[in-house]
Amino acid sequence: MTVYIDQYPKWIVADKPKWIGGGHLFGTDLAELHLFANSIGLKHEWFQGQGHIWPHYDLTASKRTKAIHFGAIPVQTGEIPEGVIRQMPKPEKISIDHDALDQVWQGHVHWRIHEADDLSLNYVPGEGDNPRVMLIGEAPGAQEDLKRRPFVGDSGLVLRELMTIAGLFTGFTPHFGEANCWLTNVVKFRPPGNRIPTMVEIMNVRHLLLEEWKAVGKPFIIVPVGGVALTAIFGRKISILKVAGKPSYHKSNYDNRLQNMTVYPMIHPSYGLRGGKQIQDLIEHDWEQLGHKVNRSSHER
Ligand code: URA
Repeated sequence: MTVYIDQYPKWIVADKPKWIGGGHLFGTDLAELHLFANSIGLKHEWFQGQGHIWPHYDLTASKRTKAIHFGAIPVQTGEIPEGVIRQMPKPEKISIDHDALDQVWQGHVHWRIHEADDLSLNYVPGEGDNPRVMLIGEAPGAQEDLKRRPFVGDSGLVLRELMTIAGLFTGFTPHFGEANCWLTNVVKFRPPGNRIPTMVEIMNVRHLLLEEWKAVGKPFIIVPVGGVALTAIFGRKISILKVAGKPSYHKSNYDNRLQNMTVYPMIHPSYGLRGGKQIQDLIEHDWEQLGHKVNRSSHER
């Protein structure tokens, strides 16, 4: 049996990753993974089994050194070697209406921004599984355009880590887990030169966000990630910094159609990346609170 160890990026500042913790220990055989963990003195409560695609132990930095000393093989974050134990994800409980998502796609094609030269043609759809929560970003960037997946660039790495804090991401590596929510953007084509979508563009497509929300089973918490998504939801400009981390419950909202919804605005991770520790701590705290809210609400349901 082989035991592997990765590292986990926290905040990536100007392409210099700042590493925290000791990463994750995983292996090709569960019983032997436990034996190995025991032999280097890992506590059983550090084992992350339930709900995780790759069962693993969380490590402190000192245990990491010890694990490597005892033969764990370091791998890149996101690299899952052949043969590593994988648990089947939970079966989908909330069904997604793919025909309705196709209609949403056609709507976005219709409203696609028409600017010469720099026009991206790649539609970046939303993605996720069993969505009780819908996370809405701004628009695809270069990486998203390339891979045709939302949030797979630098901000995406951070976002997926924040999602993990809130229990909305069940992998332990940023791109190899599965979103336990619906992850999407207001605008589905990369704006030329990565500019922020204009008010007109946002207003043109906001009705499609509502259709997308219905198509994915009406998740009961909507998380606008950043100011653009907040504008799309409320149809007017609101300062994200004033309302971030403050959930609001709406008996009727969003043109009186979004009923019994909680809107939970969050600061965009790209703002966190540019900001200092204080803002990053604040963002992390907000995602922890979101996690509590998701748990409480799912029990109430
Ligand atoms: N990537 C996305 O998909 N959306 C954003 O808002 C930022 C990066």
